[in-house]
Amino acid sequence: MPKVYGQTVDKETRCVHYHGMTDIIAIKFKCCGKYYPCYKCHDEAEDHERVVWTKEEFDTKAVLCGHCGYELTINEYLNTDQCVKCQAAFNPGCSLHYPFYFETSKDE
Ligand SMILES: [Zn+2]
Ligand SMILES: [Zn+2]
Ligand SMILES: [Zn+2]
Repeated sequence: MPKVYGQTVDKETRCVHYHGMTDIIAIKFKCCGKYYPCYKCHDEAEDHERVVWTKEEFDTKAVLCGHCGYELTINEYLNTDQCVKCQAAFNPGCSLHYPFYFETSKDE
């Protein structure tokens, strides 16, 4: 499994900020190329501004399933609510945070 930075509290990438049953993904940040469990972990550990993935880059593998270690592309992740490999459920509430990680249309 790729290294996950930040304040993780277990091996499934839960962190001090988000550690519910389904908080099992980490996201690779475009700015530094590192996996963090959440944007708060990123901001506490790094001193640069976050850069979001643009739509042209949504085929990049940038979402890590903390349950099985599979790396999803952003497109795969945005179109599922579970891991496409191990079927572990992802937190549907994460969609509220998509703008912190991914480019979103302004007219949506
Ligand atoms: Zn960064
Ligand atoms: Zn965190
Ligand atoms: Zn999985």
